[in-house]
Amino acid sequence: MTESMKWLSTRGSLIPSSIREAISKGLAQDGGLFCPSFFPRANEVELAGVDSFSQIASIVLAPFFQGDPLREQLPEICQAAFNFPLVLKKIDSDHRVLELFHGPTAAFKDFGARFLAQTLSRIQPKTTVLVATSGDTGGAVASAFHRLKGVQVVVLFPKDRISPRQKHQLTAWGDNVLSLEVDGDFDACQKMVKECFLDEALARDLNLSSANSINVGRLLPQMAYYACASLWSVRRHGTPLQLLIPSGNLGNAVGALWAQQMGFPIGKIGIVTNANETLLKYFQTGTYEACPSVATLANAMDVGNPSNFERLKALFPKVDALKKNGVSIYRVDDEEIRKSIRQTYDRFKEVVCPHTATATWVAQTEQPFRPLTWVATAHPSKFETVVDPLLKSVLGHPVELAPQLSEILGRQPIFETLESNTAALKKKLRELG
Ligand SMILES: *Cc1c(COP(=O)(O)O)cnc(C)c1O
Repeated sequence: MTESMKWLSTRGSLIPSSIREAISKGLAQDGGLFCPSFFPRANEVELAGVDSFSQIASIVLAPFFQGDPLREQLPEICQAAFNFPLVLKKIDSDHRVLELFHGPTAAFKDFGARFLAQTLSRIQPKTTVLVATSGDTGGAVASAFHRLKGVQVVVLFPKDRISPRQKHQLTAWGDNVLSLEVDGDFDACQKMVKECFLDEALARDLNLSSANSINVGRLLPQMAYYACASLWSVRRHGTPLQLLIPSGNLGNAVGALWAQQMGFPIGKIGIVTNANETLLKYFQTGTYEACPSVATLANAMDVGNPSNFERLKALFPKVDALKKNGVSIYRVDDEEIRKSIRQTYDRFKEVVCPHTATATWVAQTEQPFRPLTWVATAHPSKFETVVDPLLKSVLGHPVELAPQLSEILGRQPIFETLESNTAALKKKLRELG
């Protein structure tokens, strides 16, 4: 009999939760983040001979669902969620790339959003997912829940403050996805969403859920792809996985550390940030101090107070322990991101997005370990306004659109407009529910 898994808050509340509570609540009662009560060892016997990501994921994730009926459904959940490739590509003897951008919205957020959608829709057959978005996450969430039975999705985005391509990704859905263009900025959207969650009657009646990025349902699949890539690395190349991870809220980095805790062959891990230097300072001084976020070319990493820092600290309470575990940190500014996009193409013939470019910069300048695998977090064609001016003259054409994006961009946009006012949003939600 295997030990059943409990979920504990990073803030020390002593009441353990089940996986279904952790996924449906998102945040622990005391405001902390859910973490597993222990890290099970990788099941080498079951993994032997299994090579597909979705099968590996369902084996890796099984112990985290121990004691819950969802455990038996993991093979079908993983198959439905991960219906696109995970790619580990060899560039040369020292360099590999883990491409996480082959999902429907061409960024790694698809893995988490789709796994969460598949689990949440099985836990709560009637749910309203409400999200405010400034860009990438909303598209991944809308796409992941699109046409899932029993789930209504409501996505708020700020008028005139997102790029035309981003807007198209938020409005290409229809059916059970309601996209609302709000006459206000991102903070106004976020405030309206928060106020709806605080309305207990509304939250209860509609079964409101946030699909928030700190949800363990989004983190677990990120752990699974690092576990899988580490097995592939050993099997195909005979070396453990060593990673450079472009980071903002640290969800991706914590996923890699959790896989390492399970005993998967993962060596050194370099966390790479843009000009936002909260983490760099933490590494240098041992003191954590949140900073206001700075706008950069790698905007999905513009974070001054990384939400998953609490999980990092729960694993390694002191910075020295983190360093001893082979974790290092790098900061890459906008000028270096621009140079990196050009040099990565010149040297490796790889076109990278501004986020991925932070990691390829470190790979080319500091070369902290070898062989190394940089993590490609988004497809470059999502950020054509940055990439095209830098590469047009060498490529002779704009960066090629990812096929899944060109399909989305070909659809008719469907959205409604809403005034920036919580009462108006509540009325809209009641009409839907
Ligand atoms: C969200 C995101 C990141 C940052 O990932 P975290 O898990 O928040 O550290 C990096 N690159 C892209 C393209 C993203 O969308």
